[in-house]
Amino acid sequence: MTAAVTLDGVSCTFGHGAGAVRAVEHVDLTIDAGEFFTLLGPSGSGKTTVLRMIGGFTLPTGGRVLIGGTEVTGLPPYARPVNTVFQDYALFPHMTIRENVAYPLMVRKVERSERERRADELLALVQLPGVGDRRPAQLSGGQRQRVALARALIGQPQVLLLDEPLGALDLKLREQMQSELKALQRRLGITFLFITHDQHEALSMSDRIGIFNAGRLEQVGTPQAVYDAPATRFVAHFVGAANVLEGEAARNLTGHAQAMLRPERITTGAGEGARASGQVSEVQYFGAFTRVKVEAGGARVQADLPSGRGLAVPETGQWVHLHWDEGAVHALA
Ligand code: ADP
Ligand code: MG
Repeated sequence: MTAAVTLDGVSCTFGHGAGAVRAVEHVDLTIDAGEFFTLLGPSGSGKTTVLRMIGGFTLPTGGRVLIGGTEVTGLPPYARPVNTVFQDYALFPHMTIRENVAYPLMVRKVERSERERRADELLALVQLPGVGDRRPAQLSGGQRQRVALARALIGQPQVLLLDEPLGALDLKLREQMQSELKALQRRLGITFLFITHDQHEALSMSDRIGIFNAGRLEQVGTPQAVYDAPATRFVAHFVGAANVLEGEAARNLTGHAQAMLRPERITTGAGEGARASGQVSEVQYFGAFTRVKVEAGGARVQADLPSGRGLAVPETGQWVHLHWDEGAVHALA
């Protein structure tokens, strides 16, 4: 099968000499056709620069970009079979919603009745039928987001690039849009390359995730693989909550030189069979669970105790025994 997107040793350095910023350093990546792939990483890690190099808005200073098996490294954006949805939507305020969605077809000189028909089709697809005659200012943020999505899809791109498209929405609406976007991608079968700095968004939407740190790709894998078996300390900390143990504490508690233990894999219980014991230094209630921090084996160990399961939640200062299954420990290189 031909890859939808291939990055072959792609780098991007901004500026020269002492002031140069190495935004992206030698990234190799293959994204499969029909895949929902997410680039996850903190602000400034190089995600947008990667997306812009695929879209043709920024030229790499090294390496090659291929789309559908064809090299596009030096091609301008309009000559690439991709489209981009940016966070700020960038709708034309003076145009109607229908005209906004149809705009890419107007540029291509598609006949008016045909492009209006297609625009209405796309508006129905993003669940906004009947708003075609309104203007952007008359829609909510979430609705404008869907209009931007419809406009990006109308030219039938092979790959849709989405740069933190839900970042401006409040939490409830964002969660709703996450489900809708994922359902839409499944239905259309188009390859989505999605950017976010939100680990929950990445875990819940993606077929695979690539984790970025300081211009480098640290790990690529399914959400489960990245969560259960992080390749690096950075990934362990960035995706989910983690007890990353090292040195004396790691050897005491796990027998490894460096290891990770997810807080939800740890419970408190009887002294018999306990892996460690210690004093509770902090208790934080989060609704769905209570996070208990225990000074044990030379480390501060977090245990997340689920609510509503009849588990006794200890208090600060109390002495507790910690339990976990052998399989809960993930050794870090
Ligand atoms: P992210 O999207 O992960 O937040 P970016 O790709 O926007 O990261 O930025 C990566 C790095 O490159 C940052 O240090 C940023 O300041 C720098 N950078 C991005 N675009 C430019 C530019 N046009 N000129 C100079 N530096 C840039
Ligand atoms: Mg960005």
